[in-house]
Amino acid sequence: MASLRRAAAFVDDAAGRTGPLTNNSASHSTASAGNDFLPGPVLLLGAPGVGKGTQAQLLVTKYGIPQISTGDLLRGNIARGTELGLKAKEIMSAGLLVDDETVNQMVLHRLQEKDTHRGYILDGYPRTLDQAKFLDRTIADPIFLPRLPVIAVSIVVSYDQLLKRITGRRICPACKHIYNMYSNPPKVAGVCDLDGASLTQRGDDTEPVFVERMKTFDAQTAPVVAHYRDLGRFEEANGDQSVETVNVAIEQAIVKLRRASR
Ligand SMILES: [Zn+2]
Repeated sequence: MASLRRAAAFVDDAAGRTGPLTNNSASHSTASAGNDFLPGPVLLLGAPGVGKGTQAQLLVTKYGIPQISTGDLLRGNIARGTELGLKAKEIMSAGLLVDDETVNQMVLHRLQEKDTHRGYILDGYPRTLDQAKFLDRTIADPIFLPRLPVIAVSIVVSYDQLLKRITGRRICPACKHIYNMYSNPPKVAGVCDLDGASLTQRGDDTEPVFVERMKTFDAQTAPVVAHYRDLGRFEEANGDQSVETVNVAIEQAIVKLRRASR
């Protein structure tokens, strides 16, 4: 049962769920602004709830490069009925996590597509140290463009802040508007400002679920972070700020890391 839940969370997280602010990307700076800069492969890290999906979308728009997420790759391969997709489907229906080798092969195929030549945002991959080493080895082969190593940026939000973001979340069942009891409460407690419907809380937006997910996240991410930190290719961005300010912090980290690692 535990592994089944973990398998579900794997796909869910890797999909880079986007927050309510995703729509802002249209008004963000144009893709042309980042055209002289070669971002290369950028691994974006962040615990559930830090706003990683929103930030990934902003980077995609700014740099005009694709986002590569394990969730999308898995769904795409399954939908197209590829050999790897069929294998993954079988593993997932058994409630298990898709193994490194299968995920690695999916990424390997994806990185051979033309849209990756200026770089890409990696989301949910590499998730383990073995995957990170595989990726580093793979893209060191000159057939993979751009010929740049992976740099990693982690969006960091304090534990208490993240807990409030998640346990404070309330959703209007009628219009789907999302509130937060702490940072964006409705005018009348528990009632939607727009239509008066009673707000609801998602079943997994609770502290015990949050604590469990954080533990899993920390345990999984630590070796990958240590790997890129040791290589001098890791930076943190403060996620306890507005979407725009976090975006600036991430872009600064990317530029800094890319100057240092060629
Ligand atoms: Zn409503």
